[in-house]
Amino acid sequence: MAVAELQRADFKVDRHPDWCPGCGDFGILNAIRQALTNMELEPHNVAMVSGIGCSGKTPHYVGAYGFHTLHGRSVPFATGLKIANRELTVVAVGGDGNGYGIGAGYLVNAGRRNLDFTYIVFNNGVYGLTKGQASPTLPRGERTKTMSEAAIQDGVNPIGLAISSGYTFVAQGYAMDPRGLAELIEGAIRHRGTSFIDVLQPCPVYNDRQTVEWYMGRDREDKERRIYQLVDEGFDPVVGDSSNVDEIVEKKQIALAKSYELGERIPVGVLFQIDMPTYEDGLDLRRPDGSKGAIFKEAVPKPDLSWVIDRFR
Ligand code: SF4
Ligand code: MG
Repeated sequence: MAVAELQRADFKVDRHPDWCPGCGDFGILNAIRQALTNMELEPHNVAMVSGIGCSGKTPHYVGAYGFHTLHGRSVPFATGLKIANRELTVVAVGGDGNGYGIGAGYLVNAGRRNLDFTYIVFNNGVYGLTKGQASPTLPRGERTKTMSEAAIQDGVNPIGLAISSGYTFVAQGYAMDPRGLAELIEGAIRHRGTSFIDVLQPCPVYNDRQTVEWYMGRDREDKERRIYQLVDEGFDPVVGDSSNVDEIVEKKQIALAKSYELGERIPVGVLFQIDMPTYEDGLDLRRPDGSKGAIFKEAVPKPDLSWVIDRFR
């Protein structure tokens, strides 16, 4: 059958996610699959990488290559994958504990490097898998359902961290808007360089402050939504001239100011974007024939694993 006649991959798998009902992870998963489908990518050219936590299961539910790695380490695994095979579309995911706690060093250095992959953080303010302890994004004075006392330290500012670390595409998404989130993810994947999306997501089991009702402003007298779209306000995140330091600083300052809007108004959309040389551009890795491209496929001989198969036959 000709390739054109084949059905477009929908990246679905025959396995039901075992997240809790109402979890924001479902919306993020749907948005990832939708973005990959809309881009007409082929599953064998896509690799999903995760760390540990509820979000760590995401690659299990996406019909592409998947790597469920170590706590906080989705970014270094993604880095290795992309360097080995630059033809892959690499999407790393992780939770807020994974990304801003144990994996914070990797978060910063991936921004400096600007390798061409996408990093999506599922941010719900708690360590859900281990029963709702405060994650690094839980604000001071807030308490999850399982904490005996309110948090006595400040939460980190993910967007601010990403902007100052050097990410060339920085966005904030909302898990309960899968269509809008799919557009953001598509933009992030299409961007050449490291893209970062912090996705605000409810954890209905352990976080009873940042709920859907709260994001939608249903607790407010005026019922006005806290979530708003940056594009609706004509926000322009793109640096037009990447050699103009003044313009870069100005755009970063505006994005940074927006990143502190996490109370009565919460922006969703791209906050900062710039075209810059990628890490790959600075590498001179070549195939045996001297051409540039995917080095792993051609340069590493296929190992003979028949002895392993024989042993377990
Ligand atoms: Fe989702 Fe929270 Fe349940 Fe984890 S514990 S699956 S984050 S609702
Ligand atoms: Mg979390």
